[in-house]
Amino acid sequence: MTVAKTTAERPLLVGGEWIETGEWLDVRSPYSGEVVGRVARGGAAATRDAIDAAARALEAPLPAHKRAEILVRVAGYLGRRHDEVARTIAEEAGKPLRAARVEVRRAMSTYTMSAVEARKLSGEIVPMDAAQAGEGKLAFTLRRPVGVVGAITPFNFPLNLVAHKIAPALAAGCPVVLKPASQTPLSALLLAELELEAGLPPGWLNVVVGAASEIGDVVVEDDRVKVLSFTGSAPVGWALRERAPRKRVALELGNATPAVVTADADLDDAAAKLAANAFSFAGQSCISVQRIYVEAPAYEPFLDRFLPLVRELKVGDPLDEETDVGPLIDDAARERIAAWVEEARAAGARLLAGGATRDDGLLAPIVLADASPELKVSSEEVFGPVCTVNAVASLDEAFALANRTRFGLQAGVFTRSLDAALRAAHELEFGGVTINEAPTFRADQMPYGGVKESGNTREGPAYAIRELTEERLVVVQLP
Ligand code: NAP
Repeated sequence: MTVAKTTAERPLLVGGEWIETGEWLDVRSPYSGEVVGRVARGGAAATRDAIDAAARALEAPLPAHKRAEILVRVAGYLGRRHDEVARTIAEEAGKPLRAARVEVRRAMSTYTMSAVEARKLSGEIVPMDAAQAGEGKLAFTLRRPVGVVGAITPFNFPLNLVAHKIAPALAAGCPVVLKPASQTPLSALLLAELELEAGLPPGWLNVVVGAASEIGDVVVEDDRVKVLSFTGSAPVGWALRERAPRKRVALELGNATPAVVTADADLDDAAAKLAANAFSFAGQSCISVQRIYVEAPAYEPFLDRFLPLVRELKVGDPLDEETDVGPLIDDAARERIAAWVEEARAAGARLLAGGATRDDGLLAPIVLADASPELKVSSEEVFGPVCTVNAVASLDEAFALANRTRFGLQAGVFTRSLDAALRAAHELEFGGVTINEAPTFRADQMPYGGVKESGNTREGPAYAIRELTEERLVVVQLP
């Protein structure tokens, strides 16, 4: 195996110091298999040290204006080192460069929005004379940082989902112990370097990479960690929550994202947005379009528009500027997805696009028709370049199928009918509903999160800060 010339060696960050542990983990490109970096391997001891450092940081609170200035500076540094950061994402996650650049810009926005929230953080006046007992008293609330935050992040947005953990926590005044995904730790450690350059004092951000369960156990068991903020798969997230009944455990988990297209929809617009958003980053987004339900009269006209766009998507090297669809994160993911597609075909689903094995081992976008709701491709989160397109007889049937899932992150509808749009808003059981936009849409200030098994919280700096602060009531007896 060759080692790329740009290979980075990154120690862990604990208490403001870069720590080598004597053991290195290789980070490999999911496309070429080349080693693109090495990271010091941490475990329980490094995690305990990190929590110690975070708890010490909390003893010297940073005023809001300093926190905001640091956050704004990090956004600026991300802009300045934009190409290098995008390349790091592309190399370690296999995300096509163009999408990686979008991720960098989004992380800049996450930092900028968090800085705004840091400056706005305040409590409220309680109308005391609204009840007789409160007469003659003034009361107000303060929003206090909840304490040390433990954050665990997945591989698929290795920069911006880390930004969504760190930036709101710092805005709220909470130090962070971060465990990024083992497959993609380089972007997180690069971001940590920018935090230090921006003047973040020691202990406010600590990054430990290594054995997930070892690090997770310490974070779960240490009472000084007040919030565990987790983004990743549903089984891991819910299991962590069960083990930490006395912590706030904020979960951002998976989905099996549906989109409904009504007979009167703008089919060109729907086809373009759904083709792009079912397959970008090879479907490895928690809100990648996975299930499309089209009212019967529009079914064939929709496919006539959708399938050519899918076939045009360029599959290949993520470092190639032209690439739309890159590799899956690892062989296990590719084999699992191929098996699910085989299961669907054996049960009678028709293959409308993709399905052939390529020489370079990548999966070209796969479209299946007539996939029944019990199949894994319809009911589980595929997290790969696969989507189903089924005809439905009515809006009732479309919404019933869209809701027939244990997940509830985002769903979308394409329609020109105001009634259908408003019904979607009321009847689709998801944390977010998009109308004439793909359900993959996210701007970083939005309240973003799921219902049902998709999670129990909302991210977006203003919303995350609610979880990261506690209200303290102050009552004053007026003279
Ligand atoms: P994952 O396997 O659940 O891993 C996520 C993180 O959890 C990684 O850092 C992983 O560490 C860590 N982890 C695994 N087992 C753990 C344990 N026992 N204790 C503590 N930490 C543990 O998920 P993934 O494959 O990286 O990401 C894909 C999933 O994330 C999908 O389900 C996707 O829908 C979801 N996701 C949700 C959102 C959202 O905002 N709702 C956004 C993006 C992704 P290692 O890497 O070391 O194993």
